[in-house]
Amino acid sequence: MKIAVVGGGISGLSIAWNLAIRNEGEIHLFEKNWITYGSSTRSGARFRVHFWAEENSRFALESIRRLEKLARRMDWNPIIHRGGYLWLLLHEQHIDRFREANKMWSKLGVQGVFLDPGMVKERYPYINADDVLEAFFGPQDGSLHHDYVCFGYYSLAKKLGVIFHELTPVHNIIIENKKVKQLKTAKGLVDVDVIVLSAGAWTNELLENIGIRLPTEPVRKEMCLTEPYHYFIDPLIIDTGSGAFVGQTLKGEILGSLDYPTTPGLIQLETKFDFVVRWARAITKRIPVLKNARIMRTWAGYYMMSSDCSHIMGRDPEWPEGLYVAYGYSGHGFMMAPLVGELLAENILTGKIPELMKPFLPTRFKENKLIQEKMVIG
Ligand SMILES: Cc1cc2nc3c(=O)[nH]c(=O)nc-3n(C[C@H](O)[C@H](O)[C@H](O)COP(=O)(O)OP(=O)(O)OC[C@H]3O[C@@H](n4cnc5c(N)ncnc54)[C@H](O)[C@@H]3O)c2cc1C
Repeated sequence: MKIAVVGGGISGLSIAWNLAIRNEGEIHLFEKNWITYGSSTRSGARFRVHFWAEENSRFALESIRRLEKLARRMDWNPIIHRGGYLWLLLHEQHIDRFREANKMWSKLGVQGVFLDPGMVKERYPYINADDVLEAFFGPQDGSLHHDYVCFGYYSLAKKLGVIFHELTPVHNIIIENKKVKQLKTAKGLVDVDVIVLSAGAWTNELLENIGIRLPTEPVRKEMCLTEPYHYFIDPLIIDTGSGAFVGQTLKGEILGSLDYPTTPGLIQLETKFDFVVRWARAITKRIPVLKNARIMRTWAGYYMMSSDCSHIMGRDPEWPEGLYVAYGYSGHGFMMAPLVGELLAENILTGKIPELMKPFLPTRFKENKLIQEKMVIG
């Protein structure tokens, strides 16, 4: 069997490695630019297990477990650190929502802690908590190093014989007798038995060429990073009032973003001064000492949003045989990809659909079985 994975981000890399360890067939990964060109190394490099939908919480929990195990096998240290996430809650309805969700999280063994404003001030004296009614702290959440995880997968996959084709865009999929037959790449036609489209924000371009449409769209997001300072912000702090988040890398840089209106689509990956000003205003209001921080770098990447803010993996039986997707991660794909790779590899090689994968199939949109997820950060 010859399997082609399209896209060299965290998703494609995880899928390629998970296929390779099962030692069946020849695996090729096609990347139009270079490995990690896309959102995977433009991310905030955070992970969490706290989602509104149980399906996503459960999936993330298992995915992080996979990542931790993988850390022992990697040549690159993924630098996993559980500093927690701290949500600052400014309205009663947010508190009710978190209390309700915490029942589900308790069932999964990942309940969080509610902090009153006094406790917030005591634990995090640098936070201006004057308008905070309560806070929710999720100690199970944390950060990783996205480059090291990607290159960890890459070197493991390469050792197992995955053939990487960088600077090789895939232009089209050739179908014959309702089966995938060939990939049309910039370097020629390639015969294939299975194609996995994991091309992030660009996946729709390939799907649309063969008449498949899924409710997904890219949305540009921007990030800011300051010079490094003495480490003092351990959790990722989410200000539910302004929609801004801020954290600190282990190197000391202050990093963050905010929910900022933009036009959906594959618009230019640039950062706007207006964005920087909005974020800086929001975080200096919340952490006044940051008014002295100097911004060093900004960048942009795409969130590939699905209509229910959850990833899409697997295939629709009505599609040409041999065609699979893994995309639509909606801003939380890095943390989901370790498990996506494992489950999709099993699905491709055995035909069985693992339980944890079932809610995320592409058929859920036409069957109206949407996942009730709206917790998107940034
Ligand atoms: C600002 C920002 C912050 C984020 N923060 C987090 C976070 O803290 N935690 C988290 O879990 N997630 C986060 N995310 C989301 C996460 O980065 C993505 O969900 C994840 O990286 C998606 O991985 P991917 O492999 O699907 O896509 P990508 O990393 O975008 O990879 C897709 C690859 O496909 C290639 N490609 C495209 N078209 C073709 C083609 N025709 N032929 C060949 N190759 C092609 C591209 O060049 C690209 O390298 C963030 C995203 C952004 C933008």
